[in-house]
Amino acid sequence: MATDPPIRIFLSPPDVGPRERELLLDAFDSNWIAPLGPHVDAFEAEVAARAGRAHGVALSSGTAALHLALRLHGVGAGDRVLCSTLTFIASANAILYLGAEPVFVDVAESHWNLDPDLVAVEIDRAEAAGERIAAVLGVGLYGSLAGIAALERVCRDRGVPFIEDAAEALGSTIDGRPAGNFGDAAIFSFNGNKIITTSGGGMLVTDDGELAARARSLASQAREPAPHYEHVEVGYNYRLSNLLAALGRAQLEGLDAKVDRRRELFDRYVDALADLPGFVFAPELAGERGNRWLTCLTVDPDRAGADREAIRLALRAQGIEARPVWKPMHQQPVFADREVLGGARAAQCFADGLCLPSGSSLTDGQQDEVIALVRDAAAG
Ligand SMILES: *Cc1c(COP(=O)(O)O)cnc(C)c1O
Repeated sequence: MATDPPIRIFLSPPDVGPRERELLLDAFDSNWIAPLGPHVDAFEAEVAARAGRAHGVALSSGTAALHLALRLHGVGAGDRVLCSTLTFIASANAILYLGAEPVFVDVAESHWNLDPDLVAVEIDRAEAAGERIAAVLGVGLYGSLAGIAALERVCRDRGVPFIEDAAEALGSTIDGRPAGNFGDAAIFSFNGNKIITTSGGGMLVTDDGELAARARSLASQAREPAPHYEHVEVGYNYRLSNLLAALGRAQLEGLDAKVDRRRELFDRYVDALADLPGFVFAPELAGERGNRWLTCLTVDPDRAGADREAIRLALRAQGIEARPVWKPMHQQPVFADREVLGGARAAQCFADGLCLPSGSSLTDGQQDEVIALVRDAAAG
């Protein structure tokens, strides 16, 4: 087998410019090189404002933010937490860090996010059986907020905490509400491949000031307010550096332009490829304006001249990175013994799903090259 050339066109690389350099150097020159400082405070306020929330807590990763959000909403050992099966493993890992049990739930027929009806049925069944669902973790997959308001309603009506995993959804809106605005708390990720990046980082957003203060304390090894080091509970080292917060602020200034560019790339892919038989692009529901973090589609191998893997390999052979859609959690060997409700729909999204290069720095020329290769591969 021929070895693939190095990757030239990445799926979703960081997109930084002179403003990032300027703010990073400002943080450096100010000597605030600590996991606290003026850029952290400002970044928290700015991200919270984007999410329509009163408070933001900057953290070392989105996973850390999920861990704290679940813990602060009472999730503990042995608790059952409903979680979309179609997601990145970080969502499930945060549940396991607390010794809780993830229950993987399928996505809806009409979109790729957690099915609110399945969640309602399971919460009601559990309640009738005298069992407790400790929390629901909903994910805005690939930046789509489809179904998230219905999910929020299902949880609120039943008194179950709802955490919004908006790691992929910063900058998206639905019916005028921004990502991060749903549920009791929400989280963002600023990992290197996300729509904006701090190289690594995350944030918890909430309207609950006391909860934000608790999150900040737990993220700093749970130090009590005393001149010496006093601790009454076990915390974590989860704070974000002031240097990285400076980078994040510059990135946030460019968020709208990045969303516009990713949406434009999505539309160009649709214009150039949607006529191909068996090609179906990830939906956007009425009222939704997603960030289109990644352009995703499914390829029906019975109708197209190739399956998604053949297309992915054809791109890879030319130094272009594409990826299958997230492999569902209930199909992961590490979770082989875990509970799953449904799962066929998510499995189908994975079997046929492909993510195309979608970085906001992708040029039209590069995208045209991807499109030509996809058309070639799809012709079989
Ligand atoms: C990226 C991601 C996370 C985790 O974020 P990190 O900052 O990488 O820890 C969580 N959930 C989803 C859906 C993600 O895509």
